[in-house]
Amino acid sequence: ETRVIQPERRGEDQAESSLRPLTLDEFVGQKQLRENLRIFITAARGRAEALDHVLLFGPPGLGKTTLAQIVARELGVGFRATSGPVIARAGDLAALLTNLQPRDVLFIDEIHRLNPAVEEILYPAMEDQQLDLIIGEGPAARSVRIDLPPFTLVGATTRSGLITTPLRERFGIPLRLQFYAADELEAIVRRGAGLLGMNLTPKGAAEIARRARGTPRIAGRLLRRVRDFAAVAGRDEVDEKAADAALNRLEVDGLGLDSMDRRYLRCIAENYAGGPVGVETLAAALSEQRDVIEEVIEPFLIQRGLLQRTPRGRMLTGNGYRHLGLPEPERSGQ
Ligand code: ADP
Repeated sequence: ETRVIQPERRGEDQAESSLRPLTLDEFVGQKQLRENLRIFITAARGRAEALDHVLLFGPPGLGKTTLAQIVARELGVGFRATSGPVIARAGDLAALLTNLQPRDVLFIDEIHRLNPAVEEILYPAMEDQQLDLIIGEGPAARSVRIDLPPFTLVGATTRSGLITTPLRERFGIPLRLQFYAADELEAIVRRGAGLLGMNLTPKGAAEIARRARGTPRIAGRLLRRVRDFAAVAGRDEVDEKAADAALNRLEVDGLGLDSMDRRYLRCIAENYAGGPVGVETLAAALSEQRDVIEEVIEPFLIQRGLLQRTPRGRMLTGNGYRHLGLPEPERSGQ
């Protein structure tokens, strides 16, 4: 299934790298986080030391990979990127770490998906710059200790609760990314339109921004799709009306929800009387993976006040009912 508003990275998003900001100044929004990061980077540079390890967490598409690259660039050091599931064995991690230059940044996306055996050898690497490896098997096995250059690990995960406590505690700089405000997304859309050579009016930019789910990756993707519609329609200037027409064709509604989001909300309303209903039940009813529901669909619906997570399960809010155009039932005993 492909969703135009899907915030996870897809093949198409190679095009995305052309929109990536390269410096902290170009990076829009996340003001507090950016200011803190700038101070830590300046201090590390001043002492000619590796920056402390950084953990970035937040929903997909908010700029974690972009920030990791910016950190390396602002530190003036090399950048290596990998992801949790790709590092299958301890030896793979050892190869990555021993090839780093002093103070380099190693970015591990989806760090919550590291194999536990790999995670185990990451602890002393992060803490003491040492790798303890077992070489050989059986009676011939011996352990070797390798000294590593100082380095900065930048880990990314969608929720801090997904990673183990010992791993989380080894990051000196934990940073949470928030969904972007409308004016920030507007700035991102305008910047993207400029880079794509598009003639987008300010109201056109606002319309795309408003429907991008608070997520730069989605803003970039909607922008390119709107550009396609405009090109086929033979329009040079893209205004609010052209943007609205294109987004409606893509079934992205006024709040930025797509048909999957609406199907999710409607399922709770129609099949479970508005909830509470457990996530496993919903996953089965919608034939969706639980992860996708929890990490991709729900965070934005919760942030927009359409949905509530309670200890007893998911519940549709009054706003959720209004958005679907359904009457809110009388609830007793809630
Ligand atoms: P994540 O790693 O969190 O999934 P990425 O860093 O890959 O997200 O960002 C997705 C896309 O959104 C990037 O191509 C980048 O162009 C854009 N982007 C993310 N954050 C910003 C920002 N603050 N300003 C401008 N563009 C951004």
